[in-house]
Amino acid sequence: MTDLKSMTPDELTAWFKGLGQPAFRARQVFAWLNQGVSSFDEMTNLPKDLRERLAGECRLFAPVIERKQVSRIDGTVKYLWRLYDGNCVETVLMRYHHGNTVCVSCQVGCNMGCVFCASTLGGKVRDLTAGEILDQIIFARKDSGEKISNIVMMGIGEPLDNFDNVLRFLELVNHPDGLNIGMRHISLSTCGLIKRIDKLASLGLQLTLSVSLHAPDDETRSRLMPVNRSVGVDALMETCRRYFETTGRRISYEYAMIDGVNDSDADADRLAELLKGQPGHVNLIPLNDVAESPLKPSRRVRQFQQRLESHGVTATVRRKLGSDIDASCGQLRRRQMEAGR
Ligand code: SAH
Repeated sequence: MTDLKSMTPDELTAWFKGLGQPAFRARQVFAWLNQGVSSFDEMTNLPKDLRERLAGECRLFAPVIERKQVSRIDGTVKYLWRLYDGNCVETVLMRYHHGNTVCVSCQVGCNMGCVFCASTLGGKVRDLTAGEILDQIIFARKDSGEKISNIVMMGIGEPLDNFDNVLRFLELVNHPDGLNIGMRHISLSTCGLIKRIDKLASLGLQLTLSVSLHAPDDETRSRLMPVNRSVGVDALMETCRRYFETTGRRISYEYAMIDGVNDSDADADRLAELLKGQPGHVNLIPLNDVAESPLKPSRRVRQFQQRLESHGVTATVRRKLGSDIDASCGQLRRRQMEAGR
């Protein structure tokens, strides 16, 4: 079955041409898909016989809200969507002063194995298609009735482990005839797949790259993040330096603060040393408690931040949104899986 939602407008035009249809049909269909229709019958400006033909040849599936939680504290909304094959992924809609941000998932599960992360507990089930990543924004927008101005790829999955679909998604969401969200309003977070970071750099996109660092030394980082065992902190930092040189975009480093593991003054000193000579920014994340993990949130977040700043490193503490609704990723899907057992 053809997946029209994952096609770029150029591909759609070529595809419709193959059916003997004029180019404007592709534009009409692209517009409908971006509005979040769930059947070809809703595409009322298409002739009926064409709609029937499309319904026979193409897969058009709208994600279904399996669960939806709204934070009473700050209005954050968390969606658990059911996909066409019964798998579920999470999306979070966050309200900031500078506009609404949607946090999207890019895989069902994850293979990276970070020990503090709920998304990776059952491994990766499959990659999401570009259309399925895009749908999370289209349907969050449709459900909330609100404008979406920013996207963070910080949901379930490792974006650079689903490289081609993620790039296709970026092209779609950025398209002027689609949601038209500018690259500078998009952040992509990676655990640090260095070859893919180089590949991304070569494309020169103006998005913000976030690198999940979480520890300044190989021993600790390898314990927390298996990906580090083959890469190493030095090679990762080299790659980040290259990324900045190639794209001119400064990197944002994520650092989840874990009690007694990576939150000492000596850790802050090592981290500052690593970042010397490159314009970066550290985003300190108070660890979210994951029931399956013995790791606990740090109680030294402010001290750590001050220590970094005393070395001239800019560091912010991520505001915790939706703390009453398990808004951090992977946890809702996890609950659902457990309930279904
Ligand atoms: N695969 C990407 C996206 C993961 S989610 C990556 O590794 O960057 C986005 C961020 O949340 C990552 O920095 C991830 O390490 C972090 N994270 C995952 N579980 C967490 C938890 N329990 N507490 C705090 N941060 C967590």
